[in-house]
Amino acid sequence: MTEKRDFKNINYSGSNKAEDVLEWAFSEFDPNIVMACSFEAPILVHMAVAINPDIRIFSIDTGRLPEETYQCAQDLEDLYGIKIEWYFPKYDAVETLEREKGVYSFKQSINARHECCGIRKVEPLSRALAGQNAWITSLRKSQSQSRIKISKVEYDEAHGGIIKINPMVDWTQEDVWQYLKKNRVPYNRLLDRGYMSIGCSCCTKAIEFGGTPRSGRWWWEQSEHKECGLHQNNYSI
Ligand code: SF4
Repeated sequence: MTEKRDFKNINYSGSNKAEDVLEWAFSEFDPNIVMACSFEAPILVHMAVAINPDIRIFSIDTGRLPEETYQCAQDLEDLYGIKIEWYFPKYDAVETLEREKGVYSFKQSINARHECCGIRKVEPLSRALAGQNAWITSLRKSQSQSRIKISKVEYDEAHGGIIKINPMVDWTQEDVWQYLKKNRVPYNRLLDRGYMSIGCSCCTKAIEFGGTPRSGRWWWEQSEHKECGLHQNNYSI
């Protein structure tokens, strides 16, 4: 019987370049590694297909995504010849939620919002990561207060003790724009309309002047720590 690898001993000592982090990740974990994509500014898709054309890329279709997000996904498939692995929420859980609490239950309280995110995002993510040893995200420190402590390589306890890799952790919004334009990467057109963080259409709006990147998410809530539960219980290694 194969012994389960202890991922707490994993160490990345390479350069800060996102491409180098990806190369290391594939050499270390392929084929048990997947990339998450929300079709906002999919720079890592552009980089990853050049390094590993067989990279598996998944996304979660919550059922309430904006049209521009689907368009970005289609643009990527057409340009790079990839197939996105879509994950949906369990239909019976969504049916029960909407029948019992309505289609806008998430506006009633933070707990109610977490319930909706739990059904539409967190549960599908756990299926997407089942059996994997590592996953890649586009998280950046500059996106919010709750992300300033994230690292390039983290131990992801919440998903069974696998490794979470965040190659763009130190990128600024300006870095993102420059890369998108220079490399002609398809991106979510809502970014051209003042959106800086894009999730479900009913919970996302353009930011107001001076607003933080995630202030357009769940804007009716007061908390600075606006997360949906996809990224939790990780620590740096
Ligand atoms: Fe539900 Fe809004 Fe979370 Fe989407 S972002 S899963 S609609 S609460």
